[in-house]
Amino acid sequence: MPLLDLDKIIIKRTILGIRCTNCGGNLVMTQKGSMTGRFIKLISLGTIKPKHFECENCKKKHLLL
Ligand SMILES: [Zn+2]
Repeated sequence: MPLLDLDKIIIKRTILGIRCTNCGGNLVMTQKGSMTGRFIKLISLGTIKPKHFECENCKKKHLLL
């Protein structure tokens, strides 16, 4: 399935393209929610699902909308 492979590459590229705004380090996705994330989800009535990332280097938390 070539289409499936392409999807995987695009997803990987997107994640790798996100850098920490503080130190430029790698961001890893985290399952831990934040108050801000829950609030955005609530006021958007679930249409926006924020993704949480944490910097591997400085542990700064990032929210991707
Ligand atoms: Zn960082």
